[in-house]
Amino acid sequence: MDCLFCKIINKEIPAQIVYEDEHVVAFNDINPQAPTHLLIIPRTHISTLNDISETQTSLIGHMVKSAATIAKQMGFDESGYRTVFNCNEDGGQTVYHIHLHLLGGKAMGWPPY
Ligand code: IMP
Repeated sequence: MDCLFCKIINKEIPAQIVYEDEHVVAFNDINPQAPTHLLIIPRTHISTLNDISETQTSLIGHMVKSAATIAKQMGFDESGYRTVFNCNEDGGQTVYHIHLHLLGGKAMGWPPY
């Protein structure tokens, strides 16, 4: 499968991996939008949020829990951080392997446009 993030998981493309376990890999975004900007991805290829099956809901929960764990490790759990899933074109998705953005290290505005 010609998927950029599957290639990162398979170590065919280099990435600065900051966390990994049996189910997910987290690495630095190549174009950071905050002092810390990570992408948390499942090892299983899922193209968009629309493609998550009922049996994969615990995997998505694990991605979110991993974000909280990493935020604590990086020391911005108390000050705060943002997590984002973009879905399809209007949502701003550019890589079609689901990923949870984890942004921290600065105060962020709302709404995000
Ligand atoms: P999306 O727009 O929500 O799909 O986010 C895709 C993210 O992947 C963007 O923030 C990109 O900067 C990031 N990205 C694209 N290619 C790479 C790469 O090779 N390594 C790390 N991050 C990447």
